[in-house]
Amino acid sequence: MYHDAVGQFDRVASLMGLDKNVADRLRVPQRSTVVSFPFRHDTYNEVETIFGYRVQHLNTMGPTKGGIRFAPDVDLGEVTALAMLMTWKCAIVGVPFGGAKGGVRIDPMQLSRAELQRVTRRYTMEIINVIGPETDIPAPDLGTNEQVMAWLMDTYSQHVGHAVPAVVTGKPPALGGSVARREATGRGLIFLIPQAANATGIDGSSLRIAIHGFGNVGMFAAVAAEQAGHKVIAVSDISGGIYNPDGIDVSSASKWIQEHRFLEGYPEADHIPGNDIFGLECDVLIPAAVQGVLNADTAKDVKAKIVIEGANNPTTIEGDEILRERGIFIVPDILANAGGVTVSYFEWVQDVQKYFWTENEVVARLREIMTRAFDDVYSVAISENVDMRTAALIKGIRRVADAKLVRGVFP
Ligand code: GLU
Repeated sequence: MYHDAVGQFDRVASLMGLDKNVADRLRVPQRSTVVSFPFRHDTYNEVETIFGYRVQHLNTMGPTKGGIRFAPDVDLGEVTALAMLMTWKCAIVGVPFGGAKGGVRIDPMQLSRAELQRVTRRYTMEIINVIGPETDIPAPDLGTNEQVMAWLMDTYSQHVGHAVPAVVTGKPPALGGSVARREATGRGLIFLIPQAANATGIDGSSLRIAIHGFGNVGMFAAVAAEQAGHKVIAVSDISGGIYNPDGIDVSSASKWIQEHRFLEGYPEADHIPGNDIFGLECDVLIPAAVQGVLNADTAKDVKAKIVIEGANNPTTIEGDEILRERGIFIVPDILANAGGVTVSYFEWVQDVQKYFWTENEVVARLREIMTRAFDDVYSVAISENVDMRTAALIKGIRRVADAKLVRGVFP
């Protein structure tokens, strides 16, 4: 994944004619922290060694920012690639952060609540010297949630001796989290549908949408899609997919998840293998789960006219090529899912100012930033005659490179 991210950067940097000194500097992270620590399972005698990472790609424009993922196969390369993508993402929406990403190599599904809390607190202690409200601000990502962020905030605050809500975003609102942060990434994806439809020449008022994933991103994308008058025809989780060509009742499916944890057994739709979502007859496909799912195998089956990337890096380089050759319009992750970090920025601003906004304020500002970012990227795509992913990278890299050049070199 790291080689792909750097390869993509090199390609776009040379297309842009980027200054070689700046390009060399941007292709590597400023700081990578790798830790290992002992983790005691609920069975007292079982102590496992766990690996954790926090990579900070670039702090030129402000503190670094990005999620922490808990996943059994996460590694330094993945976290570094995602940290770099966070830099471009922040620059595209114009929030004053550089990119970062963290990871803990563990399967959160296998942990009890007490175990999850212990891992979170110990990992936080291991990286405590490199995070902070002015240096690096974590957030949720794959396998983490508001509760994990609350434990992180508590651990950091215990360490410094007073409450520091601004050290992390995506916290519960009771603790200084922003209203509408939880829904932000999913909502942001749906805000872009009218513009994407316009660019594709289809009527964007009521579309059939298939969503791969039904978690932090997918579930709220489904809710927002339904509210916007679209039909969600399929969603999936690790237990498989559910499909109803007449539309899934999203609130009933979410309720089922709250009670049963997985979609398995949900009575009001047909059950299909999770990967069948990619080949369904629909207008918009939203991969909103994990990386690499739109690849050489699946991309050739996609029937949607528009792909909006909710997950980070859901499309491989081969998958991207196939989708583009087939004329499918892709709204790339670093633009499409930037609603999450945008409301994270709002949350940080609210925490720092200790002055909280209403839901209407948050949602209206999110919509304004997302739609403007789409227009900016789309106009680069038109003027430079490139695809949306290349255009988004050009936009993000250019903004960061400009900031780097005016800051100069120390000493
Ligand atoms: N993990 C999310 C992302 O990849 C959110 C990051 C944040 O809010 O800082 O964009």
